[in-house]
Amino acid sequence: MKIIAGNWKMNGNSEILDDMISAIDELHTENRVILCVSYTMLQGGNATVMIGAQNISKYDSGAHTGEISGAMVAATGANATLVGHSECRESLGDKNSDVALRAQKAIENDLLPIICVGETAAERDIGLTHKIIENGVRESVPENASDGTFIIAYEPRWAIGAGITPTYEQIKEAHKIIRETLQDMGFDEIPILYGASVTSDNSGEIMSLENVDGVLVGGASLKKDDFIPIIKSAK
Ligand code: PEP
Repeated sequence: MKIIAGNWKMNGNSEILDDMISAIDELHTENRVILCVSYTMLQGGNATVMIGAQNISKYDSGAHTGEISGAMVAATGANATLVGHSECRESLGDKNSDVALRAQKAIENDLLPIICVGETAAERDIGLTHKIIENGVRESVPENASDGTFIIAYEPRWAIGAGITPTYEQIKEAHKIIRETLQDMGFDEIPILYGASVTSDNSGEIMSLENVDGVLVGGASLKKDDFIPIIKSAK
């Protein structure tokens, strides 16, 4: 079973979401789909499609205007959330320690956190890729995590939304680092997703790579014509 997650970013509406869920249901896929949508579209999912948020607060409540707590997201029926997405790391200034606090709140509220890690172009250029990925995992996974309670998404920040993908060798290398780091931390059953410029042209091949348990799809998750073939490409 593969996991195909979509990040709708600030796009879509409830009507488009319902239509997408119906189209996915018709596939009768054995794979798991997670759609991470804006807060106004959050709802309960079904056996195939899980609905998630795109971020949650590291606080439970209080004077945090514009934020939403894990409990609030869970109350909608949603079951997951992204944390540490590169766009949030950039706009909110999140460090790994902040991401870990958000992931901790997700787990406390029975939400499945998809913890995003990945290097920038500048970090790759100066040879920091391994360190950034390993530290991203070690420092962003919260203390209350146990096997099966979270997902890691490797998202090379230089490739997100850029229409460029790393080579398959680079993806394999990054996922191996993540797998080994997780094992060293005592986690043997954590899915690792690849994300950044996934399309139906490359999704099947990417999902067949070692240590790639699925994909996190941005732009190509918005339209049925793009997303359904990606789900179908999961073997
Ligand atoms: C993302 O936003 O998580 C992402 C992977 O975007 P894209 O697929 O558009 O590169």
